[in-house]
Order: sequence, then C-alpha cells, then structure tokens
Amino acid sequence: MLELENVSCGYAGGFALDGISLGIKPGELVGIVGPNGSGKTTLLRAASRSLRPRSGTVRIHGEDIWHQRPALLARTLAVVSQTADIVPMTVAEYVLLGRIPHYGHFQFLETHADWDIARRAMEMTECLPFKDHLMTAISGGERQLALIARALAQEPKLLLLDEPTSYLDIAHQVRLLDLIRRLNRELTLTVVMVMHDLNAASEYCERLVLMSHGQVRAVGEPDEVMDYQVLEEVYETVLVVGRNSISGRPCVFPVSEDVQKRRQSRHAASK
Ligand code: ADP
Ligand code: MG
Repeated sequence: MLELENVSCGYAGGFALDGISLGIKPGELVGIVGPNGSGKTTLLRAASRSLRPRSGTVRIHGEDIWHQRPALLARTLAVVSQTADIVPMTVAEYVLLGRIPHYGHFQFLETHADWDIARRAMEMTECLPFKDHLMTAISGGERQLALIARALAQEPKLLLLDEPTSYLDIAHQVRLLDLIRRLNRELTLTVVMVMHDLNAASEYCERLVLMSHGQVRAVGEPDEVMDYQVLEEVYETVLVVGRNSISGRPCVFPVSEDVQKRRQSRHAASK
C-alpha cells in the first residue's frame, strides 16, 4: 500500500530522515512512535507528498507519489495533520471540502452524491449532532472527529494521522482510537498514525515503528518493539515495561528519580 525505499529528506536547519525503508500492507493499522523531534511528523510529510525526498522513493500502490497529480493522490491518501487551519465555517461545510479531489472537470459545486458521502462520513464519526456548529466553536475532541470526517469524505484507501489524540482526556482518547480501529476494519482502510502515547499505541496498533534521531530504530509487533532496553536507550530514561492485565499488551511505566535513588541506596546497603 505504502512503501518508502531508502528515503532521506529534511530541512535547511539540519534535521534529516536518514535512509528510511518501510513497507505498509493494505489493511494494516501501524503506529509511529518515538521521542519528540525524532522525525515522526517529517516521516508523515515525506509519505504524503508535503516534503520532497532528497533521495529515495515513496510509492503508493507501487507508483511514485511525485509522479501522481495531487488531486488524484488525494483520492487514495488522506492526511489528518496537527497543523490543520481551523476556519470559521460549519463542520458540515468543512467535511464537504474533503470531496474536492473528486470533483469533475468544470465542477465548482458539490452534487447530491457529495453531500451523501459527507453525511455518511459525519455519521461514522458521530459528528452529526454538531454539524451546524462552527469549527472554531467546538471542543478539541469534536474538532478531531471533524478532521477525521473530512479525511473520510475523500474516500481514501490510506489514512495518515499525526497525534490524533493529543489534548484529549483518556475517555476521549479511547473513543477516538476505537473509532479509528473500527474504520480500519470496516472500511479496510490502511491507517498509519503517529502516536505520542506508547501505551495507547501498544494497545491499538498491530505494528509499531520506533523512530530515533531520524532513523527507524525498531519495527515489529508491540511485544517486539516495547522492549525496556530498546525504549530506555531511545528515550534516554529509566522505564519499566509491564503488561496490561486485561489485554495482555505491553505497557510502559516511568520511574522517578527519587525511586531510582532509593533503589540504588538499598542496593548499596545490601552489598
Ligand atoms: P517529531 O514529530 O518526531 O516530534 P519532527 O519530524 O516534527 O519530529 O521534527 C524533527 C526535527 O526536525 C526537529 O528537530 C524539528 O525541530 C525539525 N523541524 C521540523 N519541522 C521543521 C521545519 N519546517 N524546518 C526546519 N526544521 C524542522
Ligand atoms: Mg510531530
């Protein structure tokens, strides 16, 4: 579905992704994790034609994304980025914008079919109750749902999301991630999402990609990637990896400085 082959790209300031190779299969739900500044957003930008690689190739359905017209690419690929401009239009109008890549030549207005698809996207994401509210006057959780509804109105095959649950409390996080997983299964939508929260990533994703300093440090099932030694090295902090007692998925706990010191002195005393 999505293939990055030896992709290097970056910014004038100095940061660069360094020879990233990664394949995402159709129908997968993959999480990109890693510390702040490790290149997660840059990776999404490279995968979505918003940043041109210095070398290497990004393919979707086997075709180089830089050889495709942006409007055609937008029928396959939708992105929910962190930097979406929020404009004072209603949620319904905003979601309808997702239909633009599908408009025919000389079509400037939406058709009934476009409205139907936008309405279905709002239904799936439970946006209908606030569809007539302004985008600027809804909660953070509602805004995330509206952004996803707009992406779904594009009828994409591949959805890229950048930290869709930041700023949401745990109940809204679960609601949003459950929705993303339902969409992944019911629409056989391939999903790649950048996630800040390792535990949520482990709970929801089939596969994790762990980034560190512009490189892929580990790829695999949560059990393989959530290794305490790997995580401690990448995050440069002391961590304990345990398990969610109900789902059985690995989860990570921080260890405070005080606890570390107490442990060290107990250790020294027992010697
Ligand atoms: P992450 O999403 O993992 O936190 P990013 O991919 O956003 O990391 O950023 C990686 C690095 O690239 C950071 O050091 C950041 O400062 C730098 N960076 C991000 N965007 C730009 C930009 N537009 N111009 C210059 N440097 C940037
Ligand atoms: Mg980021």
